[in-house]
Amino acid sequence: MTERFEKSFTRQEPIPEAGIEAAVRVMREGRLHRYNTAPGEAGEVALLEEEFAAATGARYCLAVASGGYAMGCALRAVGVRPGDRVLSNGFTLAPVPGAIASVGAEPVFVEVTEDLVIDLDDLAAKAAGSGARVLLLSHMRGHICDMDRLMAICDAAGVTVIEDCAHTMGAAWRGVPSGRHGLAGCYSTQTYKHINSGEGGLIVSDDADFMARAILGSGSYMLYGRHRAAPPAEAFETARWVTPNVSGRMDNLRAAILRPQLADLPRQRDRWNALYRAMEAGLSDTPGLRLIPRPEAETYVGSSFQFLLPGWRGDAVQEAVARCAGRGVELKWFGAAEPVAFTSRYDSWRYAPPQRLPRTDRVLAGLLDLRLPLTFTSEDCALIARIIRAEVGAVWQAGAV
Ligand SMILES: *Cc1c(COP(=O)(O)O)cnc(C)c1O
Repeated sequence: MTERFEKSFTRQEPIPEAGIEAAVRVMREGRLHRYNTAPGEAGEVALLEEEFAAATGARYCLAVASGGYAMGCALRAVGVRPGDRVLSNGFTLAPVPGAIASVGAEPVFVEVTEDLVIDLDDLAAKAAGSGARVLLLSHMRGHICDMDRLMAICDAAGVTVIEDCAHTMGAAWRGVPSGRHGLAGCYSTQTYKHINSGEGGLIVSDDADFMARAILGSGSYMLYGRHRAAPPAEAFETARWVTPNVSGRMDNLRAAILRPQLADLPRQRDRWNALYRAMEAGLSDTPGLRLIPRPEAETYVGSSFQFLLPGWRGDAVQEAVARCAGRGVELKWFGAAEPVAFTSRYDSWRYAPPQRLPRTDRVLAGLLDLRLPLTFTSEDCALIARIIRAEVGAVWQAGAV
């Protein structure tokens, strides 16, 4: 009998009861707007910011409407102007180049390596030669590059780093939380990330001037004094006259849902990583399939899983995907010619100037991806791995390269 996987890859866990109760309290009060507080009272958003700053060790934190908004807000606060060039990953998700385009800037894409991190040699070349002053670094699918070397390259070239930590909330490099290497870190609390408020985003930084501009930019009006994880009033003195308000605040309802999840994140990370390791064990030494090595220095959150079918023909990858789908295992293929669902690639973002990334093309041609929601068990992952191993193996044996 052939085994089938029956669970959904998009089914998340419920919101913790404490979050539901806190959200109901907010609704009973009717005070959903973050600045709708009594004098001296701290709203849910201000408390979430304080707790997230503490969790990441950042001085300041700002909660906003989405991860994409967080990145756009950070780019504005760092002073990116229309027509500027901004370095970013050739392998990332659409909101990243979208944030660059939203401030009128042009993405300059950097190659990805076979280990799914930014190619630091290509970055060094483009940091020196592109004229870009900012890198919007995406830790795509949770893979963290050698951050020590990346920061050395960017510091030497005078490039400011903003980290997109949509997939690395709770992760770290050499013990330093992801988002704490560059000037600022941006996070998403969208349903498929590590804490879930449907939509939402967070920005952290130690830089008072940057954070004052981000807070004003997010739509604080002159109520920034009600923030807790914010720089002192002096930091806002000049900025409050010259920072355009581009409203994108978080509301108390979402923050109420997020706070108990944030407290739970270390435990959730362990659960995700148990699923990740079950996948890894189940797929190790599969002929024709390459696993992604995880460096010693990386503390990751295994909320999704990637592997490569290196050198495979497109039709063979497609056949493996179809055979797995036939047994209930949904794989996303980054090599598809057309953007599908959440998956698109640098050459489908046609608002950006056309660029050629041969190494990235080669990697994406064989890159497959699946989500590991916490509604799965390690036994589920072992079953998924058995199905992939069998179907990939069948196509490999018939000749896939
Ligand atoms: C989800 C995601 C974002 C932004 O998320 P929002 O949906 O705007 O909250 C940014 N970068 C990557 C890599 C993502 O996957």
